Amino acid sequence: MPARTGRQYLDNLKSLNPEIYLNGRRIAHVTEEPVFAGPLRTIAEQYDLQLDPRYVDVCTYVSPTTGERLSRSFQPCRTKEELVAKRRHFQLRADHTFGMMGRTPDFMNAFVLGWNTNAPVFGELDERFGENARRYYERVRDNDLFMTHVLINPAIDRSKTSSQQEDPFLHLGKVRETDEGIVVRGAKMLSTMAPFAEELVVVPFGGIAPGDDDYAVVFTVPIDTPGLKFICREPVAPAGRTEFDHPLSSRFEEMDCIAVFDDVLVPWDRVVVDGRPGSRDLVNRVLGSDPSVLVVNGARSLASLELLCGIATKIADATGIDNFLHVQEKLGDLISRLDTLRTLFYGAEAMAAPLPDGTWVPYLPGIMAFHMQTAPTHRRMVEVIQILAAGNFFYAPSGGDFANEELRPFIDRFVRGRPGVPAEERVRLFKLAWDVAGDGFGQRLMQYVNYYSGDPVRLTAGLYLGADKSEIHRAVERALAGSDRSLDIPLPPEVLEMAAPPQPTKPLTGMYPAKSQPSS
Ligand SMILES: Cc1cc2nc3c(=O)[nH]c(=O)nc-3n(C[C@H](O)[C@H](O)[C@H](O)COP(=O)(O)OP(=O)(O)OC[C@H]3O[C@@H](n4cnc5c(N)ncnc54)[C@H](O)[C@@H]3O)c2cc1C
Repeated sequence: MPARTGRQYLDNLKSLNPEIYLNGRRIAHVTEEPVFAGPLRTIAEQYDLQLDPRYVDVCTYVSPTTGERLSRSFQPCRTKEELVAKRRHFQLRADHTFGMMGRTPDFMNAFVLGWNTNAPVFGELDERFGENARRYYERVRDNDLFMTHVLINPAIDRSKTSSQQEDPFLHLGKVRETDEGIVVRGAKMLSTMAPFAEELVVVPFGGIAPGDDDYAVVFTVPIDTPGLKFICREPVAPAGRTEFDHPLSSRFEEMDCIAVFDDVLVPWDRVVVDGRPGSRDLVNRVLGSDPSVLVVNGARSLASLELLCGIATKIADATGIDNFLHVQEKLGDLISRLDTLRTLFYGAEAMAAPLPDGTWVPYLPGIMAFHMQTAPTHRRMVEVIQILAAGNFFYAPSGGDFANEELRPFIDRFVRGRPGVPAEERVRLFKLAWDVAGDGFGQRLMQYVNYYSGDPVRLTAGLYLGADKSEIHRAVERALAGSDRSLDIPLPPEVLEMAAPPQPTKPLTGMYPAKSQPSS
């Protein structure tokens, strides 16, 4: 089945029986669980969107082998035009959720595209593994399956390696091999969207210590594989929230779970790295994701920052505070930050070039710089919304109050904004602002933005260590050379382009400074 509709996605989800626990209760039918109703509707809409006649040409491409329409997120970027087409698709689906959901189907679709490209690398350990990686990509692409993923071991004791933990199977590792496959035990923290997914992809991240090959296992399993359990966190959007009172959290609560592997058998045809000697080196060298993951993340970030910036300016206007100088200064600052990020995002695409394997990528230092600046910008936008909203959040009567005929005249009189902003408009606006800047939903989103791609401290330190500093050092050398060399200025480029051909992105694991890793 090629690119699917929302109905086809929901029908398949209904046929699965994963072990999902919520507040001590095993969820009998994910599609009938009230707390999941909002997000499930949204994910179904994501699938519908790609076949909507208005968007189908942006969101799908025609398979060169079967002639069927496939989700654009799976398309390899062999030309700059394909890179642009893909970015537009990612933006459309990110704009649908205002960037409030991080792990919509596009994220993992883009990730496993890299398994196709990296199949020969996985094949270094065993030819079958390269084939498995490639065939998995083809299967999820051709069936448009929704994948969640787990990368990180639970913290437990971060000062120790996996094998040094109190129990050798706290972190997920291989217990044994059988004729059918490998048996794995342990846990991985945080599988976002697990209750809504059909497949789980497991890839270790964060650097595996020498001697810990048993923990270097990469594989996929159906979400309802025996022994695999997901324990949900407490919902940030409990069932029954209305769109009036919670315009974002009622639709976009993506749920996070810890994944527990209670002796899970992974069949050989789903193993990509099996924990044999040499697995650690390979996993630390190659994460295997496609570089377009950076574009998915960028599209989501931009969509959410545009919404946050819009909310800040709207609430300032609604209560007539936008004439105050300090308010204008704060809003001007937000707009300049947003424009800086937009320029980075589109500028990195304008400077795109092909990798040695022919895959077109945006200018990688630019898209990474964009990535590193989105979390501080998100935090500042939330802070400004809080400063400007002050107590306004707390006299925003609920939808039920608006429906009460006796209350309504008082609400209309006292809860309105500046002239021209009626009570309902003002209240809806502040409820929107509360969802992103006050509610648990917004706090979880901020934590997501800070950490979704790894530890920002080590990522930023890794960027410093890996950066090409030759150009900035040349400027220092010229300054030190004094007036003798003052006319020795390099000619500025006519066209902005990369100084050197781009190289494949390191796995983020490889970006953490080596010295920050525990070792055995
Ligand atoms: C909302 C949310 C959703 C997520 N969804 C997913 C998902 O779907 N799939 C998935 O795989 N992951 C997911 N993640 C996990 C994410 O990848 C991790 O949170 C991230 O990699 C950071 O790891 P950690 O949380 O274990 O923090 P740690 O890496 O343990 O860091 C915690 C703190 O300790 C410090 N620290 C720890 N170790 C070191 C060290 N060696 N050197 C220096 N400082 C150190 C860090 O700087 C940080 O301040 C999600 C995270 C969040 C917040």
